[in-house]
Amino acid sequence: MAFRGRLPLPSHLPAMFLVLMLILAAALCWLSWRLLQQDRALENQRLREHLEHAADLTGATLQQSISETEGRLAELAALPDARLDDAAERLGNQLPQDSLLVVLRPDAVEDYPKGRLPYYPVLPVSKDPPATTFAAGEVLEFRQKDYAGAIASFRELARSPDPLIRAGALLRLARNLIRAHEPEKALAVYDDLAKPGAARIGGIPADLLARRARFLVLEDLHQGAQLRREAATLSQDLNNHRWSLSRAAYQFYVQEVRRRLDLDSEAPAALQAREQEYLALAAAVESLWEQWQAGRREQSNPSGMRGFLSGGHPMLLMWRSGSERLVALAAGPRFFGEHWLRSLRPPLERQRIELALTDAEGRWVFGQIAADAVFQVRRSTVETKLPWTVHVASADPAADLAQFAARRRLLLAGLGLMAVVVLAGGYFIVRATTRELAVARLQSDFVAAVSHEFRTPLTSMLQIAELFARDRVPEEERRQKYSEILLRETERLHRLVENLLDFGRMEAGAHEYRLEPLDATALIRGVVGEFQEEVAARGYRVELSEKVSVSMVRGDQEALRRALWNLLDNAAKYSPKCRTVWVEVSLRDKHLSIGVRDRGLGIPAAEQKEVFKQFVRGAGSKAAGVKGTGLGLAMVHHIARAHRGRVLLESELGAGSTFTLLLPLEG
Ligand code: ADP
Repeated sequence: MAFRGRLPLPSHLPAMFLVLMLILAAALCWLSWRLLQQDRALENQRLREHLEHAADLTGATLQQSISETEGRLAELAALPDARLDDAAERLGNQLPQDSLLVVLRPDAVEDYPKGRLPYYPVLPVSKDPPATTFAAGEVLEFRQKDYAGAIASFRELARSPDPLIRAGALLRLARNLIRAHEPEKALAVYDDLAKPGAARIGGIPADLLARRARFLVLEDLHQGAQLRREAATLSQDLNNHRWSLSRAAYQFYVQEVRRRLDLDSEAPAALQAREQEYLALAAAVESLWEQWQAGRREQSNPSGMRGFLSGGHPMLLMWRSGSERLVALAAGPRFFGEHWLRSLRPPLERQRIELALTDAEGRWVFGQIAADAVFQVRRSTVETKLPWTVHVASADPAADLAQFAARRRLLLAGLGLMAVVVLAGGYFIVRATTRELAVARLQSDFVAAVSHEFRTPLTSMLQIAELFARDRVPEEERRQKYSEILLRETERLHRLVENLLDFGRMEAGAHEYRLEPLDATALIRGVVGEFQEEVAARGYRVELSEKVSVSMVRGDQEALRRALWNLLDNAAKYSPKCRTVWVEVSLRDKHLSIGVRDRGLGIPAAEQKEVFKQFVRGAGSKAAGVKGTGLGLAMVHHIARAHRGRVLLESELGAGSTFTLLLPLEG
């Protein structure tokens, strides 16, 4: 039969706890899931609000910038012609590279700052000298093929102080020199003509004409290296927009230069990009010009704003016009995308928010945002009253999600910790309850056992006392015998009460041991003798063997007697068949060893530690109906400890037990 020192809980109690724990765990899981869901929703909402705010802010900033710029344009437009130029130049100089301020007039375009436009939609009308000026030379040249005569004629004219006549004469002179097979001389004349001057022939600057004409001569002379050098410088001058040209002229000369240079591959990318921006500006100005011309006829569109793509470059046009003058700003992304949003962009970048603008057709005019961006917000042109739709998106959704994931991990860790605490709490509660119940059960067993222990001697004492009181025992011999029984039972009762009281004091820590040097052998002999007398009637005997020369210990006489008595009492009590108890006194490691051995029931290994605990009784002894309180061995243990000694137990079920009390020797 299994040992039942610690009693199990009523079976429904742990099950109830288990169910409770499961409910608690399920509640925790549900709660965590809900929490996570809410957290995610909150996070999404926070991000969205963040973006909504950024979009609104962007819209408002752009609107404000636009109205400011409109204000400045209006101021400019209101200025009289005399002051317009200065004011426009000041404003124009502040513009980024892809933007331009223009003043359109019916016959001219003024641009601020200068040098950005590669070509103009309209050029100031250039006067050519009257056709008759060169008639004489041209007759010689074309009709009579008298090139020498023509050369002389044009040379003469080339001395004219009028730069227009001089330029026209030089051009014709060079042409005739070529026809007269004197290309070197023609080159020199072109060189002369190529000196910068204001003269324009047929609307084209004379120096440009001359420099391009040199290309042809150099080609004839097969002077490739010289040609490339000159083409390169001309290309540079064209890129610097040295001349005011019409679109056709600009394109023609660019082509001419390109043909002679492998320019596409030679021009640095930055230069090309810059030229692209300038071309976009020129196209914008051209379109504005056409619009104004049409508008002037219809007297419409006095002021306005228009966003469009010019040669693939987004552009915003803003204008104020009268019938004779139009002041306009052609702004590229550097202006409307960067300049206007200058104050806004750093904080947006810090918040990892990307910004972009699209035009009415959905083309990106500033920035770009992936179509599949998870978090993005739009503000349409209707909402913002801007020429563009504003887009904002989280620049780094992974980082935003990572933040969320970190919080989720923290939350899960917290919940995990809570679960562990709950489970650990549950475990300790179950354990404590189990122990409490076991102790309660042990105590009730104990009360029953003590009552039982009391009843037996009390019953005999009562009977004998009754016999004596009624004088029913006349014979001296029987009277003597009853008196002895009475004495023994009284002693037993006394011992029992003493045991209980002593144990109570030990438990409360109130028991005081009076330790004094004493001869253990004498004490053992005394106790064994008394015990022998006590049990002799039941047929028990004690065999004492002493193998010691010294046996002085420091001890409490009364306590040691009680400990030894308890061991002897148990040996007899739990050995119903073999009625001999062996007591062996010997020396062991500076200790006096008192072994009490029986050949009784024995104690199973699982119980051997438990039996030293208070109230604990062996299953075998209870089954065999041996009475007891479960206090004896606990007391022996307590006494041994108080003497700085130990109690050892060797036992085998069915073969008997040896309890050994070890006490340190005195000295
Ligand atoms: P009690 O004897 O009153 O039950 P004890 O504390 O003296 O209490 O002993 C505790 C238990 O140890 C006993 O119930 C018994 O099961 C076991 N026990 C003690 N001594 C022996 C022994 N000599 N032989 C077998 N079992 C013993």
